[in-house]
Amino acid sequence: MIVGGGPVGHRVAERLRHHGHDGPVTLLDAEPGPAYHRVLLPALLDGSLTPADLRLPDLPDVNFRHGVSAAGIDRRLRQVRTTAHDRLPYDTLVLATGARPHLPPVPGLRHASGWLIDGVTGLRSRTDCTRVRGDDIVVLGGGPLGVETAAALRRAGRRVTLVHPGPYPLDDRLDADAGALLTRHLAGLGVELELGRVAAGVQPGKLSLDDEWLLAWDTLLCCTGVRPRTGLAEAAGLAVRTGVLVDAAGRTSDPAIRAVGDCTEPGGSLLTGWEQAEAVARSLTGKGVPRGLAAGRRPVFRLRVPGLTLGVLGDGRGGGGDEIVTYRDPARSRYARLALDPAGRLRAAVLTGLPQALATLTQLYTTDTPLPESRLALLLGRPAPRTGPLPELPPEAVVCRCNNVTKGALTEAWDSGARTAEALAEATRATTGCGSCVDDIRGLCREFAGSTA
Ligand SMILES: Cc1cc2nc3c(=O)[nH]c(=O)nc-3n(C[C@H](O)[C@H](O)[C@H](O)COP(=O)(O)OP(=O)(O)OC[C@H]3O[C@@H](n4cnc5c(N)ncnc54)[C@H](O)[C@@H]3O)c2cc1C
Repeated sequence: MIVGGGPVGHRVAERLRHHGHDGPVTLLDAEPGPAYHRVLLPALLDGSLTPADLRLPDLPDVNFRHGVSAAGIDRRLRQVRTTAHDRLPYDTLVLATGARPHLPPVPGLRHASGWLIDGVTGLRSRTDCTRVRGDDIVVLGGGPLGVETAAALRRAGRRVTLVHPGPYPLDDRLDADAGALLTRHLAGLGVELELGRVAAGVQPGKLSLDDEWLLAWDTLLCCTGVRPRTGLAEAAGLAVRTGVLVDAAGRTSDPAIRAVGDCTEPGGSLLTGWEQAEAVARSLTGKGVPRGLAAGRRPVFRLRVPGLTLGVLGDGRGGGGDEIVTYRDPARSRYARLALDPAGRLRAAVLTGLPQALATLTQLYTTDTPLPESRLALLLGRPAPRTGPLPELPPEAVVCRCNNVTKGALTEAWDSGARTAEALAEATRATTGCGSCVDDIRGLCREFAGSTA
């Protein structure tokens, strides 16, 4: 029994079948309608995708119950009570209840009853997207979600103001040079920026900032972080800190209950939600958790704002003693800062406006390969005089990080007849997330075609 049909719960169900579990699998999800790819919600706001495009693949051998919530867990009887008033038995329960938007404690945001006032919303579900109405949108929070959402709404022709307390958006990931380029890009799109300011009070249709500035809004969209959804686990007496506490195989303090994804302790595992799903499915089918898992140790962030390439590898900063390579070309909106260890391996990087370099550096970073001698040639995307050939990616290398598609899965799909980037996307869903791996997939097509010619 899986509770929660977000991307990670859905993935657990799919991997259980993949690894040969042949008993019944039931998945309860509070949201009505089929499971969907949550990270693509901004594409609904700008109209570039429809709800159908976001749909995750159907899993014919899984008993999905959409629009049904788990209301309680009876650990002694191993039963889940549902909002549909039934009691469902389980042998193993997997909690994948995700996270909910965290809204700041700004006076006036809620009624005395605790409900949000009309027009205020977070952005976490398809339903939240339908709450975004009117021409004037104020987005609170200049993290990735706030920036991507503000840009998407602007593309849709709304008047958008982004309010962020830092000196520039994404200030916890970017240095000042990259931050200045991002600020300039957003301003160029027509996003109004209120930087260094915080929301001080809300009234219907009006927001006052700390300096008394008043902004008018039809929708006030709070992109101000998330908190693990742990109510069910806590009520059942499981060990919870900020999130549900789990080990590497997702085991909670009850051996019959696992937990995965955003409902687990943030930072408690170096595994991504995808990797947790794989680890749980393997462990439940007796396969053991592979040692190679832990892409979370080499975090790669790519902003999804069309027309702007911006990526951060690692923490973007690097450590003391690192060799620092910087490249600035502000007139062309290009900037890179690389931090290299004494062996010439990339520890961290921030890049804007350099798509080819970002693709190459991401591969070198995730495979922990030293950079070629000519860093400038690499940054400019020219064929670099290499000290050796770029390593061929191993089968377990993740090429599409949004959908966790490995090179091995792409090779399998190619061998089964998917012989173009589009056919590979259809077969594996690679490229259908943020789209930033399209060039990598095309490169692999050339590599595959060469080896099967
Ligand atoms: C717009 C957007 C962009 C994002 N971009 C990125 C990104 O680029 N990279 C990244 O790593 N992450 C990104 N995220 C975060 C990413 O979406 C989450 O990490 C991911 O969705 C977590 O999946 P999950 O299945 O653990 O939880 P969720 O997606 O939150 O799903 C949990 C599900 O459980 C259901 N549920 C909860 N309680 C119950 C209950 N009691 N009974 C039944 N069902 C229940 C909920 O309704 C929900 O459907 C983004 C998120 C958003 C909204």
